[in-house]
Formats: sequence, C-alpha cells, structure tokens
Amino acid sequence: MATNRTFTMIKPDAVEKGYIGGILNMINEGGFKIVAMKYTQLSKRDAEAFYAIHKERPFFGELVEFMTRGPIVAAILEKENAVADFRTLIGATNPAEAAEGTIRKKYASSIGENAVHGSDSDENAAIEGAFHFAGREIF
Ligand code: ADP
Repeated sequence: MATNRTFTMIKPDAVEKGYIGGILNMINEGGFKIVAMKYTQLSKRDAEAFYAIHKERPFFGELVEFMTRGPIVAAILEKENAVADFRTLIGATNPAEAAEGTIRKKYASSIGENAVHGSDSDENAAIEGAFHFAGREIF
C-alpha cells in the first residue's frame, strides 16, 4: 500500500474540553505522521463550504453552528493506507456505536459533537487538505 495522506480536524467540542493533547497522542501512536497542522477557527462561510455535501441534511444548520463556535485543530496526516486506517482509528460517526480504542469512543459526546473529522476518500482528503493549507505549509 502506498504512503498517502488524510485530513483531520479536532472539532470545537474536543478543543473546549482540553482533548487536543490526548487526541494527538492517539494519532501519533496510531502511526500517523503530522505533515501540516494549524490552530484556527472556521467562519460560517468556511463551514458551509467544507460541509456543502451535507447542505440538504436536516442537521446542516446545527453542524455549521457547532463547527464555527470555537477553534479547531486542522491537520494533514501521512501513513500507508491513511484514509481507511484513520477512519478505523476515529470510529463510527455516532460515539455510541464507536469501537473500543477509537478516538470517538474515548472523546466524543454525541453524533453531532463527535470530536474529530476524518476524510472519507483520497479525493476528499486532497480537497480538504487544500481547503486549509497552502503548499508551503505542508512538510
Ligand atoms: P463522518 O464525520 O463520520 O464522516 P458524516 O460525513 O456522515 O460523518 O457527517 C459529517 C458530520 O456531520 C459528522 O461528523 C457529525 O459532526 C455531523 N452529523 C452527522 N450526522 C448527524 C446527525 N444525525 N445529527 C447531527 N450531526 C450529525
């Protein structure tokens, strides 16, 4: 499997609760290399664009409000099979269904406030990484 990249965000709920360190530790222990990282806050426009695929879903307004209410950590991660392996590490969208040992099992509180984002395809990982980082910010 070729080394490749995925994109993640530590979401506002996890930042508010002081979980940045714990989540980054799980990412490192999971074998992911951080190749880009920033502490930032999404504007309403950013969040609407980032989650445009969900704009017809009933929870879209709630999702945008949540994702903009405080700072996030955005990062690009590198590992063999990065997208699939990171989805495994974060666990199911709903923490009640997330497996033991996953980030969402440990740190998420609800299906909406679920601590972390992980890209769902190589194509989206590239789009989402480029949304947050310029080429000179990726190492
Ligand atoms: P994932 O982040 O696991 O890929 P989705 O792409 O389905 O999940 O949804 C994107 C994000 O939208 C979720 O991570 C979560 O924050 C939010 N979300 C998903 N489903 C719901 C829901 N039923 N109610 C509120 N928020 C939701």
